[in-house]
This record gives sequence, structure tokens and C-alpha cells, in this order.
Amino acid sequence: MSYVDEVLQMVVEKNPAQPEFHQAVKEVLESIRVVIDQNEEVYRRDALLERIVTPERQILFRVPWVDDKGNVQVNNGYRVQFNSAIGPYKGGLRLHPSVNLSIIKFLGFEQIFKNSLTGLMIGGGKGGADFDPKGKSDREIMAFCQSFISELYKYLGANTDVPAGDIGTGAREIGYMYGQYKKMTGLYEGVFTGKGLSYGGSLARKEATGFGLLYLTAEMLKCNGKDIAGKTIAVSGAGNVAIYAIKKAQQLGAKVVTCSDSTGWIYDPEGIDLDLLREVKENKRARLDAYAAARPCAQYHAGKYFGGGGLWNVKVDVALPCATQNELELEDAKALVANGCMAVAEGANMPTTLEATEYLQKNGVLFCPGKAANAGGVATSALEMSQNSGRLSWTFEKVDRTLQDIMINIFHNLDDAAKKYGLDGNYVAGANIAGFLKVAEAMTAQGIV
Ligand code: NDP
Repeated sequence: MSYVDEVLQMVVEKNPAQPEFHQAVKEVLESIRVVIDQNEEVYRRDALLERIVTPERQILFRVPWVDDKGNVQVNNGYRVQFNSAIGPYKGGLRLHPSVNLSIIKFLGFEQIFKNSLTGLMIGGGKGGADFDPKGKSDREIMAFCQSFISELYKYLGANTDVPAGDIGTGAREIGYMYGQYKKMTGLYEGVFTGKGLSYGGSLARKEATGFGLLYLTAEMLKCNGKDIAGKTIAVSGAGNVAIYAIKKAQQLGAKVVTCSDSTGWIYDPEGIDLDLLREVKENKRARLDAYAAARPCAQYHAGKYFGGGGLWNVKVDVALPCATQNELELEDAKALVANGCMAVAEGANMPTTLEATEYLQKNGVLFCPGKAANAGGVATSALEMSQNSGRLSWTFEKVDRTLQDIMINIFHNLDDAAKKYGLDGNYVAGANIAGFLKVAEAMTAQGIV
């Protein structure tokens, strides 16, 4: 059995009931097989793959808090510090009822390679809790965040582990968590990113993932002889990534005709009205049916938007899944191909299933995986860390320009890596290979630790 197959089998045996984690490891290891096979003896001797698929540390803890009725609630808290070979652990905190160890491990594993691709000194980690911020009062959110950090603060630090936002963790939650961290440690240091501008945040951080996704998508199209201007785009999600992806797509001259939330999806043939969408989702924290109610040309479809017959059935040139994992299935990929879609770039983490990815690639669709396409968020978080250590604030233009350079570089790195290994146009393999090689080199240089 090859080294890759041995490790894949070991991961399934040693991590039972963690399907998302198995999926993420399989996707990475399968696509770097060509690199591993060429260096099998050295990697096997150092157990490099066993070490890279095993988190350096997993912190699982109780998060008790009191709701507005005086009842005690208990949630499960997680922080997986996956790999610090190239820098302090860096990765977001997800607050969503679906959170479990498998999901946090898949996200943390992906984060290792994503962070490596940015070219910045950041290792991989991820965390969160099975807490649902929806419908909670501000006081309840604060009570949860304070309890969460009262335990987690022991493991964080500006040179140790620097969390950020993710699904369910926005500026409000980061503020409450940072306040509690400061109270527990007495330190005013850049230990969270995505902070408010009045206390150390970076301009352009909230836009960064969505903007970065479009910078990379535009470069991918350009290198394949196509222009993003004039293209019709399907976006899923209506949160931080989706909103700023829509904004930048519109600025680049494309038309975005869809978005979604956990209750349903919108088809707006005249193009999404971004001000209205932000009013509904960011200010009112309402459901998308309120968007359709205010805009007669838009259609609202309640219920599931993927798995056939939903949002991905709309005829578009480019698809940008920006909501959550496994939200673009094989049936959706078939519909996109049948409608002539030319490119898919992942704003969310692992939104496309393995079967759907393979189908898109086999049918000539340009496909860029999330670990490259959505790396703009973490890259700008690293810029926030730099500003914090220098006690400086850069202008919006400077951060945005640096972000654009980083995204263009990422695309060329993965394109070059794919070409070098005879996998021209396979951007999944290119991203995994480029991300892996840097981490593997650092791990090898640092010995068996
Ligand atoms: P938000 O919480 O701001 O938005 C998520 C959006 O997706 C919301 O519209 C939400 O619906 C919808 N959604 C979430 N879970 C589900 C689900 N299970 N089924 C259907 N819809 C769902 O999160 P972000 O925009 O920050 O993150 C989106 C994705 O991008 C995630 O995969 C995240 O890991 C990834 N990502 C985010 C980065 C960032 O900087 N924020 C950086 C890199 C990756 P509703 O409005 O009803 O809640």
C-alpha cells in the first residue's frame, strides 16, 4: 500500500465519526500524491503525513452561561491548534449549532495550507462552539462570549494563537471576546483579528474575504483569456463573505443574480440590490423573504437551495459558493455545466463536495478551491497583526492594494505548482501542493516535534 493510502486509512480508523475531517484530508492527500510519491522515503521516515494530519493540540471545554430567563445553558467549546510550523496558530471561531469536533478539525486542517499559501507567517488553527447566536439578546451573546473566553484565554496570545471571526462570529462577538481576554490577562495585544477600528482593527478586514475572492477569480479568468466584466454570477450566502463578494463583483462590472441564507434563496434577474441586502441581513438581521418583499423583480424560494433544482440551476457564467460546507453537490455541478458555467471559485470553506469538484474539473470548468480563493480574509488578518505589533494603522487603500497583490500571487503560485507537476489547470492540486511544500519544509527543518 502506498504511504498516502496508509495514512488515509489511519485517519479514518483513528478519527471515527468525523466525516468532514476525513473528506478534507482525502482531498488534500489525494491531490498531493504525486509529490509524496517522489519523496516517499524521507516523508515516511519522518512520519510527516501522520504528523500533519494530527493536531498539535485539541482543547475541548464546557461553556456555561445564563440566559435572559435565568436558566443555565451549557455549550461545547473547541479550539484545535493544528500546526504551528510556519507561525502562530491562526483561524476563526465558528458559532453555529452544527459545530462539532469533525467540523472544527476539517476547518483547522484546511487552514494550514490556506495560511501557507498567503506567503505570510501564520500557522493553522480553528475553533468555535455549538452555540447559536440567532435570536439571542445582546446580553446573552455577551454572557456566552465571556464564558467562552474565560477558559480559552489560557491558550491564546499574540505570538501563540490569534483567533478571528467565522460563521456566527462577527464584529460584535469579537468585541465581547476581546474585552474578556483583556480583562483576564491584563494585556492589550493583537490577540484577535477582525477587531473594531477603535481598538486595533484593520481597515478593509471585513471586506477582505469577499474582495479577495473576486481579485483571484478575475485573475484566474484573465489567465484563461476571459474577462470578469459583463459576466453573470451566482453567489450563495448572504453573510460577510457573500456581501463583499457581491460588492466587488459589481465594481468589476459583473452582475450577481442570486444569494441565499439558511431559510431560502433569491433570484434577482436585474442584479442584487446590495444596499437592500445589507439592510435586511446586516441591520435588521432578518430573513431573505424581506428582500423579495421590498423588491418586486426578485423571486424568493423558501427552503434548501442546493442538491438539485435550487440556486445553482440559474444560468450563470461564474458560481461563487459563499455560505457553508457541502452546499454544491453533484446535481448542482451538472446543472452548472449544462448551463455553460465557465468558473467556480469557493468563497466558503469546502462548499463543493468531492464528486461535484471532480465533475466540474472533468467538464472543463475552471475550479479554484477555498483554501486559495478565500485566503484574503486570513491574509488581511495577518496584516492586522502586523499593524498591531507596529502600533500602526494602514489606510484602506494600502490594505486593499496589498490584498490584491497577495491574491494575484496566490493564483500564480498554485498555477505554477500545478504546471510543475504536470497537472496544468488543476488548481485544487496546485493549491494543495504549493501550500503543503512550504509547511513540509518547515516541519522537516524543525525536527520531530
Ligand atoms: P456569516 O455567518 O457572515 O454568513 C454565512 C451565511 O451563510 C449566512 O447567510 C447564513 O445564513 C448562511 N449559512 C450558514 N450556514 C448555513 C447552512 N448550514 N445552511 C444554509 N445557509 C447557511 O459567515 P461568513 O460569511 O463569515 O462565512 C461564510 C463561509 O466563508 C464559511 O464557510 C466560512 O468558514 C468561510 N470563510 C469566512 C471568512 C471570513 O473572513 N468571514 C474567511 C474565509 C472563509 P443566515 O443568514 O440565515 O444565518
